Amino acid sequence: VTDWQGKNVTVAGLGVSGIPAAKVLHGLGAVVTVVNDGDDERSRAQAADLEALGVTVRLGDGATLPEGTELIVTAPGWKPDKPLFAAAAEAGVPVWGDVELAWRLRGPDAAPWLAVTGTNGKTTTVQMLASILKAAGLRTAAVGNIGVSLLDAVLGEETYDVLAVELSSYQLHWAPSLRAHSATVLNLAPDHLDWHGSMEAYAADKGRIYEGNRVACVYNVADKATEDLVREADVEEGCRAIGFTLGTPGPSQLGVVEGILVDRAFVEDRHKNAQELAEVSDVRPPAPHNIANALAAAALARAFGVPARAVRDGLRAFRPDAHRIAHVADVDEVAYIDDSKATNTHAAEASLAAYESIVWIAGGLAKGATFDELVAKSAKRLRGVVLIGADRALIGEALARHAPEVPVVDLDRTDTGAMLAAVQEARGLAHAGDTVLLAPACASMDMFANYNKRGDAFAEAVREIGAVDG
Ligand code: ADP
Repeated sequence: VTDWQGKNVTVAGLGVSGIPAAKVLHGLGAVVTVVNDGDDERSRAQAADLEALGVTVRLGDGATLPEGTELIVTAPGWKPDKPLFAAAAEAGVPVWGDVELAWRLRGPDAAPWLAVTGTNGKTTTVQMLASILKAAGLRTAAVGNIGVSLLDAVLGEETYDVLAVELSSYQLHWAPSLRAHSATVLNLAPDHLDWHGSMEAYAADKGRIYEGNRVACVYNVADKATEDLVREADVEEGCRAIGFTLGTPGPSQLGVVEGILVDRAFVEDRHKNAQELAEVSDVRPPAPHNIANALAAAALARAFGVPARAVRDGLRAFRPDAHRIAHVADVDEVAYIDDSKATNTHAAEASLAAYESIVWIAGGLAKGATFDELVAKSAKRLRGVVLIGADRALIGEALARHAPEVPVVDLDRTDTGAMLAAVQEARGLAHAGDTVLLAPACASMDMFANYNKRGDAFAEAVREIGAVDG
């Protein structure tokens, strides 16, 4: 689309992506109608703002396709099985997500995208990548699902040399023509299956990120499903498959040799077969899954031509976000670690693997997950478990099956004091040298507004038991 004048566009969903999309499209001359399921006070206020600009808003009816719609721009979270999309398919109306819109609206000299998806580690990897690109003197930003609007990045005043783009599986589902410079699927484990319908559909949506890549498709050697997605993708001629591994790298791979991150895919010196990038200790936190994130970020940066030195400087400059394996405090020689961001079993498995003797605080909303594999793999590291939240019985049952000897406290509370009670119980189970780890393997919304609030409550509880102590 180059001529938006008078084009009938329906924006599905008022919200973080819908409101800016409606404004931008209206500004381009399109005739915009926003449809929204909800009709509450907040959406009425948002609707009033848009209507003042000349945008039509229909509240309380997200199912009916407005007459004359030529294009739908949807919020990424809208499920594909919604009646609106069935009506669109019937009428031959294309559906774009927020990422597709940004991709189509970017200018002819727009910065290329280095794109990252995966079940876990997306935000961390994109931030590491941006840090590395900056260390190389490039103008860049970490954008997308990370919470920074791609539309702003693409249409704003600022000019970039390259963008580090985090993409969710939902966004990829609705981004049919996106073509990245290079991209990675960090890992694939069951998550959001209620939305995608099946693991196959989820993997296929993630795999979209490789379609049309120009320089490199970066995959996880330890996760064969990611390599399969590369093989299935239709890429530009000359685009390479590049692996990352925590072991010794093969040709066309990045990996680890004696505590050094090394690159055998993009070697600058023709007389060498490997390029040293950084030390494992340059990566924070130096947990195995996070070294993998660093290697993936390095691979994308190297695909863009970034020198080895910038990889090291960028990794050293990187600081992880809150609630991602954050060390809160030591109380009585027990370390308290906040990994509230471990909202699924795959993430929790990674953080449990980073410690030896653990009192594990887990539970919340399971989102359809099962816990047998996680519990079976982690059982030998568990000193004890404190279960919280709505779906804690699912974890309790898996523990009974695979770790019957591990003591479990089943905390049947969802009030505001529940996290303090959980931390107190955990303290009772822990011995000197142990780690109390909040890695819930579940979403937080049964007890908290989001994972940030859950992590804050944990940190506050730890401070409280520490203060009583001191
Ligand atoms: P995302 O943006 O994909 O949600 P984050 O970088 O915010 O990922 O990390 C989320 C959580 O996932 C972390 O707190 C950590 O527990 C876990 N995690 C991070 N990287 C990985 C990885 N490569 N493999 C498995 N788990 C990971």
